[in-house]
Amino acid sequence: MKIYILVLIILVTSCKQVSSEWIDRTKHEGLYKIDFSNSFKILCTAENPENIKSTINNLEEAKIFFDEIFDEDLKFAVLFVDNPNWNKYAFSPPPGMPQAHYQGNIVLGLDNSVMAMRAEQGLKQLPDSILGTLKQHFGKELNLDLFYRDALSLHELGHLYQFFRTENGTQRHWLNEIFGNLCQVAAAKNLETQDVFNRMDVYQQFLINANKWGELRFKSLEQFEEDYFEVLKQGQNYGWYQTQFYLKAKELYIKFGDDFLNKFRDFLIDINPDKVGRINDKELNELLIKNFGNKVVKILELKNDR
Ligand SMILES: [Zn+2]
Repeated sequence: MKIYILVLIILVTSCKQVSSEWIDRTKHEGLYKIDFSNSFKILCTAENPENIKSTINNLEEAKIFFDEIFDEDLKFAVLFVDNPNWNKYAFSPPPGMPQAHYQGNIVLGLDNSVMAMRAEQGLKQLPDSILGTLKQHFGKELNLDLFYRDALSLHELGHLYQFFRTENGTQRHWLNEIFGNLCQVAAAKNLETQDVFNRMDVYQQFLINANKWGELRFKSLEQFEEDYFEVLKQGQNYGWYQTQFYLKAKELYIKFGDDFLNKFRDFLIDINPDKVGRINDKELNELLIKNFGNKVVKILELKNDR
């Protein structure tokens, strides 16, 4: 009996250790610890940051939602990093492009990020009819950090709930991104107000309708996989893929609801290449049909004509 109890205690303690110790604390060096939340750790390049409270509030609400959906109590850290220090903490420019590290950290922009400012520049010449709608959601100054920092923080947090169970085992980047977008839509839909969802939806729809991507080198899922880091470097092309993934995620969420998130995460865990090796496209398609049915697979297909 004593041995059983001992074994149980060891098991419980080791589980707990894994859940908080997965966070890579080497990424926190040189940052100020900010005391704005009891739900997760916050670090920042500024000692007294402004304008991050609503992002933190949304992440707190999203954590409650995700913890319940995925049956976790996820420990994680959020790093708010200003433009000059971006490359020290993030793995990809430009400053303010939100990202999730495999080991428990999210990196978000601080103040007016380069990412948002560049996008804002591109909006200046638009006719008043379009600008008016955007201003309703992003304010007179068209503050796009409300999209890149605030709305997309939900997407990055979603990634962490996957990485916590798969580490860096990735069968397909595009499946990860569908999952990130699915989490983004579901969490936003479950926030107290619909402001964040409306903002992300208006802005993504605007990007799709404006269709000002320039020449896109990559358009297929195969290219997204093979040239992932090249696509990431070519910001516009990556943005185009993300709008496509967003539309698919929204459709999946509307049709299949909150329950679909956990099913999709289980699928990503089951097909982790660290466990089952690399699956070819034909096998993957069969697995998708078997797990989710033809309707879902049809939605996931990327049409290359635009
Ligand atoms: Zn993502």
